[in-house]
Amino acid sequence: MKIPAASSPSRTNTILAIVWPVLAVLCCAALWAVTILRADGDAERARLLLLKEADTYAQAYEQYVTRSIAQMDQITMQLKHSWEHGQRQTLLEDMRADGMFTDHAFVAVSIVGPDGKVRSSTRRNGLPDKLLDAAFFVQHRDSNSSALRVDIAPGGFDATREVVLFTRRLDRADEEFDGIVVMAVDAAYFTSFVGQSTLGADGLLAMADTAGRFWIEQAGDETGRPGGPRVLEQRSLAARAGGPRLVVGEGFVDGVARAMGWRDSAVYPVVAMVALSQRDGSAAAQAYWEESRDRAVAGSVALALMAGLASLLSLRAASRAREHEAVRLAYRTATESANDGFYMAAPVRDRKGQIVDFRIVDCNERGASFYGMTRGDLVGRAVSTMDRGASGDEIVATYRMAMSTGFFEEDRRMPVDTRLAFAWGRRRLVRVGDGLAVTLQDISERKKYETEMERLANQDSLTGLRNRSWLLNHVPTLLDAAAREGGLALLFVDLDEFKQVNDTHGHAVGDGLLVAAARRLGALMRPGDEIVRFGGDEFVVLMRPARDEFQVAAVAERIVAAFARPFALGEGLQASVGASIGIAMFPRDGADAGTLIRHADIAMYAAKHEGKGQHRFYDETLSGGIQKRARLKQELLDAIAGKQFVLHYQPRVDPVSKRLLSMEALLRWRHPEHGMVAPGEFIPFAEASGLIVPIGDIVIEQACAQLAAWRRQGARLVPVSINVSACQFERGGIAGRIAAALEHHGVPAALLEVEITESAMMDHREDILAELAALRALGVKLHIDDFGTGYSSLSQLRTLRMDVLKVDRAFTAELDGGGEGRVFFEAIVSMAHALGMAVVAEGVETAAQLQVLRELGCNEVQGYFISRPLGADDIAGRYLALPVEAEACA
Ligand code: C2E
Ligand code: MG
Ligand code: MG
Repeated sequence: MKIPAASSPSRTNTILAIVWPVLAVLCCAALWAVTILRADGDAERARLLLLKEADTYAQAYEQYVTRSIAQMDQITMQLKHSWEHGQRQTLLEDMRADGMFTDHAFVAVSIVGPDGKVRSSTRRNGLPDKLLDAAFFVQHRDSNSSALRVDIAPGGFDATREVVLFTRRLDRADEEFDGIVVMAVDAAYFTSFVGQSTLGADGLLAMADTAGRFWIEQAGDETGRPGGPRVLEQRSLAARAGGPRLVVGEGFVDGVARAMGWRDSAVYPVVAMVALSQRDGSAAAQAYWEESRDRAVAGSVALALMAGLASLLSLRAASRAREHEAVRLAYRTATESANDGFYMAAPVRDRKGQIVDFRIVDCNERGASFYGMTRGDLVGRAVSTMDRGASGDEIVATYRMAMSTGFFEEDRRMPVDTRLAFAWGRRRLVRVGDGLAVTLQDISERKKYETEMERLANQDSLTGLRNRSWLLNHVPTLLDAAAREGGLALLFVDLDEFKQVNDTHGHAVGDGLLVAAARRLGALMRPGDEIVRFGGDEFVVLMRPARDEFQVAAVAERIVAAFARPFALGEGLQASVGASIGIAMFPRDGADAGTLIRHADIAMYAAKHEGKGQHRFYDETLSGGIQKRARLKQELLDAIAGKQFVLHYQPRVDPVSKRLLSMEALLRWRHPEHGMVAPGEFIPFAEASGLIVPIGDIVIEQACAQLAAWRRQGARLVPVSINVSACQFERGGIAGRIAAALEHHGVPAALLEVEITESAMMDHREDILAELAALRALGVKLHIDDFGTGYSSLSQLRTLRMDVLKVDRAFTAELDGGGEGRVFFEAIVSMAHALGMAVVAEGVETAAQLQVLRELGCNEVQGYFISRPLGADDIAGRYLALPVEAEACA
């Protein structure tokens, strides 16, 4: 899937920065157009409504005026009739007295005689004296029409108010002119049609005659005063034809624009006019307009602000996008030459804003080549579809995680069928803005190297088994699993006689034996078990699951049996090594690797100690022995450092003359708490622990020092033999050390002799034989100690060229009984003599034994019957002809 690449965000934002203000201007224009058009419509509607209203008012006003005039017409008609038929001189005075014409609107109602003089009137004074010349009087006198005449009153009727005059001609019976009826009515009576609140502040009413002469006007609250200023101009009256219309500017003295309605009375020559102020009429429209305008202004300002802000934001986004692009370009340029793949990925979101995928927006050529594509192909691609081998969801999940946490790094084995051309990749994802910068590094080589290093670090190079370091690193994990799966057994397997094979036949053969042993072990184990070469000839086997001891014991037995069979070592060589196994059970015998290994080791030592070639489960009692040994070892170390070792000497004498011939140096430990400790109690441990070497050196040193001291004291010296353990020979260098000590103390080699047990020489090992030869070369005599306890034959001893044979005291003890013991001893003596060796009988405790030995021709005797081992001073005093207090060597 290829998602079309988005156009550059910086360009989009730059365009947006221009588009926002333009959009805002367009919106403003539309807003204003609508507002103005609506206001225009409202104004027009208001104008038409105002005109209609003015016309309606005019129509109603005309009816009102016509009705009012008709009343006056009626009244004057009645007055005319009453006067003409009654000729009562006090007609009007009487009528007023009767309550008629008392209304304030009636200024005066009068009968005027043909001479122009008032004959009867509701008002006695205050009327103009001479009406003879008045236009209305002249008109009625000169015309015999009895029709009502309506006109505005000339001056003299009422100075305070405008007055409308209604006049009618009076006739005598002969139809001669008999004066007139005059009814003066307050003009306000005709304008009290509607109040100011109805007409509005600037509304006005007016009444005129059809000739266009103005009579009355009511503007605001006032009806005009006689001769007072009018609002309506004369010329406006002239232009009444054509129905209602709007008069703006001219036509009104106050310059107020008004809508005017005209109506001619259908009965009287009167015109009724209503003018309504345009301002009052369009007040609502105006208010609405003002409100709309304010809203439009507010809207425009808001739009301008929003557009400005949006434009600003777009500009900023554009500049940021430009920066991003520059950074991306710089980064890509920088990474183009690099070996790593570099990608910029942008999230693809659904409608809810959730990230559903990522799109590659940029990458370097190297990055594209990882996927077997060109940059052009890869850019625009969805991340979920980039990699055929790996699940798209998994990768998108990784990207999503990086998006939320900001950073993600992993080393990843690339799936086999992936497009990616390498096996291991290191992916680093860093969030940059709303996207990810991804680097992909081919770390296959490094991984291969690391894996190889790890393999080497965890593998024993000789046997190919896992090694000690693997064991220590992995046992914790294995124990975790074993805790769930039902336990584990740790078998510590030690080859019993490997050292001999190695020392006798050399390392190459030893190595071959280890490889064969590993293979034999491997063949015995189940696939889930682990075999580890722990070191030297030690192997560790991990069995899991291991629930019961029977099952484990059976396996251990199989191993013991397998190792009991000899190993073929090539060139016809064979060796039986055997194996001792110590077993620790998890979790019973320890919760951690260290404890389990230690306990299995302890159990293994116990197995060895109890006779080798067997297995032993760990139990707590074993640890007690271990602790004892650890304490003993420490005490021996302290003894070495604290010079707690001393030598005692036991004489060997001629059986016949009992003359001192030689002495044996026997080691004693002057223990600070336990007193004098015999060698049997610590020599075996010293041998097992290797401490016999430094202790042996002390013996050599002290023996030589003592000989030198006795020599200085002028003693009659005899040779002193020292006991040397097999271990000391195995370590090598014993001859060199003895030579150095002899030389250091200036003791002739002939004064020192070496005792070595028969069993120590049974292996005929080359290195021990070489040491013996070196000693002999020095001039040191060699004794075979405890002869008879081992299995060496006299012929073997001959090849070793030993000087003295010390027959074990068990044979000396047999001499008492006579018979077989004596025969056996006699055979040894004769054969030894035949081989050129002297014979020493050890452990001579009785006179009878001594007697037999004398008879058998034994060369020297040693034993409690002669003397117990004695301290240096004692022996010197008794045997070396030195005073007891003489200088001794500690
Ligand atoms: P060994 O070399 O056979 O020494 C003779 C042992 O027999 C000595 O025991 C001695 O006290 C004992 N003995 C001598 N005459 C009689 C007797 O008439 N009856 C009996 N029952 N015993 C007699 P000791 O001193 O306790 O030494 C025991 C063994 O310890 C020695 O046996 C020797 O193998 C070893 N040993 C002693 N000193 C040293 C030493 O400096 N180095 C080494 N490597 N081993 C030593
Ligand atoms: Mg000895
Ligand atoms: Mg002995």
